[in-house]
Amino acid sequence: MPHRTDPAAALREVRARIASLERRYARAPGSVTLLAVSKTRPAEDLRRVHDAGQRRFAENQVQEALPKLEALADLPIEWHFIGPLQANKTRPVASHFDWVHSIDRVKIARRLDDQRPEGLSPLQVCIQVNISGEASKAGVAPDEAADLAREVVRFPRLRLRGLMAIPAPCTGLEAQRAALRPLVALYERLCEAGFALDTLSMGMSQDLEAAIAEGATLVRIGTAIFGARPPHGR
Ligand SMILES: *Cc1c(COP(=O)(O)O)cnc(C)c1O
Repeated sequence: MPHRTDPAAALREVRARIASLERRYARAPGSVTLLAVSKTRPAEDLRRVHDAGQRRFAENQVQEALPKLEALADLPIEWHFIGPLQANKTRPVASHFDWVHSIDRVKIARRLDDQRPEGLSPLQVCIQVNISGEASKAGVAPDEAADLAREVVRFPRLRLRGLMAIPAPCTGLEAQRAALRPLVALYERLCEAGFALDTLSMGMSQDLEAAIAEGATLVRIGTAIFGARPPHGR
């Protein structure tokens, strides 16, 4: 059975943990932004977490997300899309989300750029990088990221903010930190190459400390706020 937590109380704990990790790793206070990953959760749970002070939420499936966005349209939520994106699903993402973390090919970027409504500010995007080299994982290969970045920055309705990755799960702080370093190194190379990036989207419930230690600016936390997802959950 998925164990139930009070998401508002859990949110406060996660925020306190982030603040204490910022201190432990000499990160500036407030330099790590919390994204509440609300996939599989009903809109009521998001509303409670919003009412406890959370403004940024992330979803990973278009069909699941749209009714929730509609149910919560009265709230000033910043919506992040973090899942794999198929070309035929880009339009609602371009019009309803503020951020997309999972850009992994030019075709998707071009469609989002074409479909971003004129009245909205540019869509904030990250390139997803496959740092674990697992065939099943989405994302560009690290050595292709710079070429993709050069294409993405040309689209006027997109604003390239940084990189995102989902490392292969591993345990132990040192191993988790080592798993994230290729992303950090790539981020630094792109910054040196002149890309004006400010977002390293890495860190989930299991590797939050490693991510903050390695310089994450945006952590994506689901389980630690909302409790365990049902089996077969994503
Ligand atoms: C589900 C998911 C998360 C959150 O994972 P937790 O382990 O529940 O914190 C973060 N990022 C992505 C891309 C996800 O799909």
